Formats: sequence, C-alpha cells, structure tokens
Amino acid sequence: VTQPGVAGSLAGVLPSAAALLSVPGCTDVLGLTDRVDAVGVRGVVVLLVDGLGWQLLCEHAASAPLLSGLAEGTAPIAVGFPSTTATSLASLGTGTLSGQHGIVGYTFALPGHDGLLNALRWDAAVDPLDVQPLPTVLEAASADGVRVSHVGPRAFEGSGLTRAALRGACYPGAETLGEVVAATAASLSGPGRALTYVYTGDLDNVGHVKGCGSLGWRAQLEHVDLLARHLRAELPPDGVLLVTADHGMVDVDTANRVDFDLEPELQRGVLMLGGEPRARHVYAQAGAAGEVLAVWQGRLGGGFDVLARQDAVDAGWFGPLVSEEVLPRIGDVLAVPRGAAALVASRSHPREARLVGYHGSRTEEEVLVPLLVTAAGRGRR
Ligand SMILES: [Zn+2]
Repeated sequence: VTQPGVAGSLAGVLPSAAALLSVPGCTDVLGLTDRVDAVGVRGVVVLLVDGLGWQLLCEHAASAPLLSGLAEGTAPIAVGFPSTTATSLASLGTGTLSGQHGIVGYTFALPGHDGLLNALRWDAAVDPLDVQPLPTVLEAASADGVRVSHVGPRAFEGSGLTRAALRGACYPGAETLGEVVAATAASLSGPGRALTYVYTGDLDNVGHVKGCGSLGWRAQLEHVDLLARHLRAELPPDGVLLVTADHGMVDVDTANRVDFDLEPELQRGVLMLGGEPRARHVYAQAGAAGEVLAVWQGRLGGGFDVLARQDAVDAGWFGPLVSEEVLPRIGDVLAVPRGAAALVASRSHPREARLVGYHGSRTEEEVLVPLLVTAAGRGRR
C-alpha cells in the first residue's frame, strides 16, 4: 500500500530493528535511526499487539496514554493482505509480503494437502519449512551473534506458524503481564546485543468477542498500555522499544452478514471456502471458476470486491511479487468487503459466525497500524 500518510510496511519492522543492531543484510527501511538516538543500540524490543489498529488507538487515546502519546505526530504503517495475524506475523518475520512468504490467509489451500491449512492451528503432517522456506530476520540476527528471544504464550512455542514465520529465537514462554515483563527483562540482561520479540494477543480476542472499542476492549487496551510502560522501564540504557500491530478490526452488524451456508447459489461450483469472514479465498471445482466469479459478483457486487485470482495478483494485493509456489494457494475468486460486512458460514463455523469484531479486509481500519518508537530512560518516573 502506498498512500500519503503511510510511513512504510509491517514487513519493514524487523529488518529495520535488526539494522539498529547492525545485523548484516538488514536495512533500516523505516528510518528508525531518525526517530531514536540510535548510536550504539544494543537492545531492541519489538512488542506486537494483536489487533491494535492505528485508528482504534487514535479513537481510544484515553485508554492508552503512553501509546497514544508516542503516536502523536507519527504516521501509521500498513500491513499486507489479508489483514490477519498469520499473514502479518509471516510478513514481520520474513520481511516480505504474502506473495513471497506464502501464508496467504488464516486458512488456505496447499497443493498436495487435503483440505485447507489452518495457519494458526497448523497440521502435524505439514512441514512449516516447506510452506515457508524463506529465512527469517530472527535467524539472520541470531546468526550474527545477537541474542534473539521470542516472548509469547507457551502454547505457541514450536507451533507450525511460529516455525514458519518466526523461527530462529529462543522462546521464554510467558502468559501474564508479570511473566512477560520478567521474561523480557531477562532476555535483555547480559553482554552483547539482544533482539526480543514480544507477542500479546488478548486485545484481539476481546475485540472479536465483545467488539473493538467496547468496554472490555478498552479495559484490555489499558492493560496493553501498562505492559508497554513496563517494557520501556526494563530497557537497558542503550535499548529501544518498538510497538506495532498485525492488523486493526471492524465491528460488523448481524444485518451486514452474508451466510454462505444458507445460500445454495453461492455454494454452486465451490470446492472449499477459505480465509475468514472479511477475506475469502474461494476455491472452485475444476472448470467452475468463471461461473463462481460471475455468481459471487452478482450476489455480493455492491458491498464486496470480488476478483479473480489473477486480477487480485495483478492489482498487487499480495505484494509486488507472487512466487510460483504461492500462486495456487490463492483462491480462484477473492471476496473482500469494502465496508463493515462479513461473509460467514454459520453451520461449518458457528462460533466464528457469531463474533462481533472481524478483520482481514483492505480498509484503513484494518490495514493501518502504529509503529511507535521509544528509547530507554524516558518515562522511568
Ligand atoms: Zn484476530
């Protein structure tokens, strides 16, 4: 995405962070050196807040005084398509967009694999290195002697997605705010350079269930702000904290949901429905792609962008480059709402169909995320 007021891509965050630590082959494409006194940085913490869209942060500044203060006077960055966690974490980890790293959605087809691969749950029969063979920035930093840590929930240690997107780090598991702060502080102590990636997912969870901007969501945002405050306080004197996110979120009224499972017309010729309610990969039966495209355009026309695979690729949805291996993972047809709508499947995915907040599409609410930068010694008192 290139538009005025956007300062770069999520894919630039880890290469820029590693460049602050002088890791060879990594470039400060986001200009972090201009935003921090970057001489002799030895510790960088990258906090990824799942679901913290730029616009949500701006609208709820009162619930996040530290983060909104850091956001003031800065421009957001953009995530790739789809605006979903698995895809964005792979963009973060590899420094590329989905056309290259190949994690093209929450669920997607994988040639040679039966059914859809769920990128969050994964499948023991699928080797993460086959799905995503590009080296990660964490591996590059580790190879250069940087102490690289990934602080996140224990359940994600060694998961398919962690290995595909963010391999190359040691993994101190941490669930609570206190554990995350302690694990991050420990990761930064000791000689030499340190790069610590911290993931927190509860804001996204609350947003899905209660709605973004809801009472529960705002309470969770206060918690995130407190976490950032602690992480900054634990930085060494030559340390830098970056805060960013994998996507934003929008709430979708029940009236604005199209239910695939209740519309036989939409099902005709469809082999598999992939992606998620705001970013659908539609895989057609052999020879049916044209018919599916026409029917879906007719039914969803006004509120959705409905494109054939090649048209979405040519429009750059998956980045400037889509590799041979990645192309067949993309749906024959893509259906993406332009406004606050969703395409649910109430029988096959009843829980997902009843959520309040969703993401995945290409709206500014979902695509724009903060990139906040702060250094040690500010805000210790
Ligand atoms: Zn989510």
